[in-house]
Amino acid sequence: MRPTVLCFSGLDPSGGAGLQADIEAIGQSGAHAAIACTALTVQNSQQVFGFEATSKELLLAQANAVVNDLPIKCVKSGMLGTTDNIAALAQFLREHSDYQYVLDPVLVANSGGSLGNQETLVKAFVELIPMATIITPNTVELRALAAEEDLEIATQKLFKMGAKAILVKGGHEDTPEYIRNALYVNGELIAESRCPRLEGEYHGSGCSLASYIAGRLAQGDELKQAVQHAETWLFGVLKNAETPVENGQKMPKRF
Ligand code: PLP
Repeated sequence: MRPTVLCFSGLDPSGGAGLQADIEAIGQSGAHAAIACTALTVQNSQQVFGFEATSKELLLAQANAVVNDLPIKCVKSGMLGTTDNIAALAQFLREHSDYQYVLDPVLVANSGGSLGNQETLVKAFVELIPMATIITPNTVELRALAAEEDLEIATQKLFKMGAKAILVKGGHEDTPEYIRNALYVNGELIAESRCPRLEGEYHGSGCSLASYIAGRLAQGDELKQAVQHAETWLFGVLKNAETPVENGQKMPKRF
């Protein structure tokens, strides 16, 4: 059986982000995706209307049901929704410290809609940060997690909080021609990538990238190689994205 990534992520009915993005990206990376569903969201390509989070008991029951059933090599988390769910994931990771772990610190949807109480989620993420093989914040999430505007200082603050590796995604920065991502390991910049900035907004690009990285890690890639594979794959997927309605965010075409 293919190596498995167990994702803690939410359902997005539009299929652009959340657990569907995870399943498709991980499948494309060559690994198998398993899901512990953290929340049911109500949203489309234009906005988030609300969500209902899974209880921590049900979340852990889902994850524990597949632990001895599938060859899990990596955990990936996206929307967690509540501090209870963050604590439940931390407990799960403590019990399975042999798993690699990709932490995508989701706070708000790309469309701007709330996916949880940002203030309390930021505080709770502190417990997960030292457990992650890699954290994949965009610059909005990085500034919020570190409570710091300067990106270099914010990155170093996360390392002081116990981070091992951070991929800083530059999609929200004011660089009209390009997007720069920077990969730091143990406080040092070890790789950066620049790709042309594609026009428009994309739904689920962050989920897709983090999940593809997790899929490659599960299959034995080194961290830098996993990130590079994922960035190359994501660019193609976004280039082929489909526009659902005039004001809607584009849907990545993952296969
Ligand atoms: N997870 C869920 C369930 C979501 O609905 C969203 C955004 O809508 C995200 C994660 C984050 O999406 P993105 O990859 O666009 O940051």
